[in-house]
Amino acid sequence: MPVIKGRGVSPGLAMGTLRFFENKPVTIRRETIDDVENELARFEKARRMAYAQLDELYHEALNKAGKEGAAVFDTHKMMLDDLDYRESVTDAICAQKINAEYAVGLTAEKFAAIFSTMDDAYMQGRAADVFDISERIQKALKPELRDTFALNAPSILAARDITPGEAVKFDKNMVLGFATVEGCGNSHTSILARSIGIPAVVGMGTALTVDMDGRTAILDGFTGELVIDPDEEMTRTTSVRLGEIRKKRETLDTLKNCPCVTLDGKTIKIFANVNDLSGLDKAIENGAEGIGLFRSEFLYLEKKDYPTEDEQFAVYKQAAERMDGKKVVIRAFDIGADKQVDYFNLPDEINPALGMRAIRICLTRPEIFKTQLRALYRASVFGNIAIMFPMICSLREVADVLKITEEVKSGLRRRNISFDENTELGIMIETPAAVMISDELAKMVDFFSIGTNDLTQYALALDRQNSRLDRFYDPRHPAILKMIKMTVKSAHDAGISVGICGELAADIELAETFLSMGVDALSVTADMQLPLKEKILSLDLRK
Ligand code: PEP
Ligand code: MG
Repeated sequence: MPVIKGRGVSPGLAMGTLRFFENKPVTIRRETIDDVENELARFEKARRMAYAQLDELYHEALNKAGKEGAAVFDTHKMMLDDLDYRESVTDAICAQKINAEYAVGLTAEKFAAIFSTMDDAYMQGRAADVFDISERIQKALKPELRDTFALNAPSILAARDITPGEAVKFDKNMVLGFATVEGCGNSHTSILARSIGIPAVVGMGTALTVDMDGRTAILDGFTGELVIDPDEEMTRTTSVRLGEIRKKRETLDTLKNCPCVTLDGKTIKIFANVNDLSGLDKAIENGAEGIGLFRSEFLYLEKKDYPTEDEQFAVYKQAAERMDGKKVVIRAFDIGADKQVDYFNLPDEINPALGMRAIRICLTRPEIFKTQLRALYRASVFGNIAIMFPMICSLREVADVLKITEEVKSGLRRRNISFDENTELGIMIETPAAVMISDELAKMVDFFSIGTNDLTQYALALDRQNSRLDRFYDPRHPAILKMIKMTVKSAHDAGISVGICGELAADIELAETFLSMGVDALSVTADMQLPLKEKILSLDLRK
């Protein structure tokens, strides 16, 4: 009963036949061509064919895995359209007089090499995408390279690596999980597995071999293990665990639409934290009562230049409309510290977490801030948008922010642009200073949201990015809990609402503590919404 260890990148458990998918190696020979024009036309035709396939795959994935799971095919389409990529292929065909298939291969290697040397783990993961789109073009050019592998019974899919394009081609009902020799947690296939909700274990190394094809296996996405030929006892315990997981999911699903009330009648709202529009689908699917934290800075992080007012408006409008009247708290860009954006040209700092970030940028570069505020106010008529300001430390900062929002509103009125005059304005309480003056701050705004991630960092004098300090990073520290209690009291004394949107909000063991304190809302990632709700429904604060 060999047990192969890898890295679990999508939780879950699967038992069934292991099918080893051998990605057909694409061997392309270099050929000299005479007719350059014809070769360029072949490339363009194949590129368009690949594009059309991706379009189809996008819609297929949308049905199977939702927006987040389908996003990869949009990325691939963009890569296929990328001018640099296209020019690299056509330049190679023209300059070296080589066949299109070979020119595509050369380009794939060149681009993948660039991606894999980048510092950013996300960009490193894109090297696999370049190979994926290039192979798609090569297969369009040479039909004999196309795959014939098919799954005709539910199986655990093993492979050296699985590209997103391959992953989505399999019938979702036929794939029990993914197990791969290579791969990383940041790859799109891992993301896809998580969004479909199947287990995935990557990086198993050479212990996972083709000759295991057809054998029975158990894939555990929680522990990152693949058991080959499990014995009777293991099979029995796994069946029991599978039954429990299924039951658990069914129970959780039934909670989606019920109000989040404790046994003794105390209500608390469960909101979702999202980084972009693609996160909304999962939030809705898991019954979010609203969005408690929309990290708008991701909109800036994705761009090469400042997003325009109209670009931002389109995103905020869609968020408001998709949440259909439910609250969407959009946080003003929290850029700086760990979220650096080149075109902001922020100075190098010794302590960026204590430097020019968040509200400090908003106030020192009001034109960028006002562009965002105008977009937010314009979108406010399409739903229930609230605006939140990060990293507040002083009354003065809030007064300055409110002055700027008034200027923006006056400007819109002058131009007869409609907006919701009652758009709520709130602040994040994520610095100890803000906690200590929360009674005063509460008189200036409509709501508080406690950012326990930064509050822990600043209260415990501990860099949250420094993994060597993990054992000292303690968001449950009594100082933090006291600060939360104090903030809740300040908010309620002033008659405003208060939520928690830091990771601590999802700490199930603290749900009772937060309810007893009187916290009005907990904002968590989509996967934690229902487990948290289940816990709250079981609580009785009278006991
Ligand atoms: C926080 O600090 O708790 C928070 C929610 O904001 P972020 O993690 O984006 O800094
Ligand atoms: Mg924060």
